[in-house]
Amino acid sequence: MSDVNIFLKGFRRFQHHYFDRNPELFDRLITEGQRPRALVVACCDSRCDPGVLTDSAPGDMFVVRNVANLVPPHIQAASYAGTTSAIAFAICNLGVEHVIVMGHARCGGIRALMENKSPGCDEEQLIAKWLGIAADARQQVLKELPDKSHEIQTRACEQASILKSLENLMSYPWISRRVDEGKLALHGWYFDMGNGTLMQYHSEAGEFLVVEPHPEGSAEHSEEPPGQPQRLFENWESSPPP
Ligand SMILES: [Zn+2]
Repeated sequence: MSDVNIFLKGFRRFQHHYFDRNPELFDRLITEGQRPRALVVACCDSRCDPGVLTDSAPGDMFVVRNVANLVPPHIQAASYAGTTSAIAFAICNLGVEHVIVMGHARCGGIRALMENKSPGCDEEQLIAKWLGIAADARQQVLKELPDKSHEIQTRACEQASILKSLENLMSYPWISRRVDEGKLALHGWYFDMGNGTLMQYHSEAGEFLVVEPHPEGSAEHSEEPPGQPQRLFENWESSPPP
């Protein structure tokens, strides 16, 4: 059995960094409450912690994590309230101005979806049922890229499912209204863990492009609404190999 003491040591480092050296941060977060900049919908995958990947501080980011970073459509909201209630709370109560759906390379959930089979242990078909949210993305990949390798199809589905979740977000009237009013922006990000890069969906280009590091070290992001998913496949030949 692995040792969890490494996490207790990590908590002591966190304690030292935030409570000993920077006590005003939590004083402010307690007295003023949380005002996160963004809601992030990310995968449960242990390699893709949004807070770690973006070097965020406590209070910066409201995070919902689930298998394959999926957002159910509005019509299924009540069936998947663990995810949808957190999304509603972040948008309607905390007033976040950005929603980021962050997928990633080598996603086990998307791989299971593409292979049309559950992971090793899915006794009640819970994972398979959940992954059905992205079934359209799978079908689209098989239709648009029928002759590509399984690896390329899976990578395409990882990205297409991000666009599907962005599309599903817009099916919620209280989300689409805020987007139309310019109060909320939706973003699609993809962590390419093989080469340590972050990609962002650009609706004008119709593809995910690498976020170049800023010369001073901070990355620049444009704010674009989600575009038409099918353009992703038109540009697929120019995308980097998995
Ligand atoms: Zn994943």
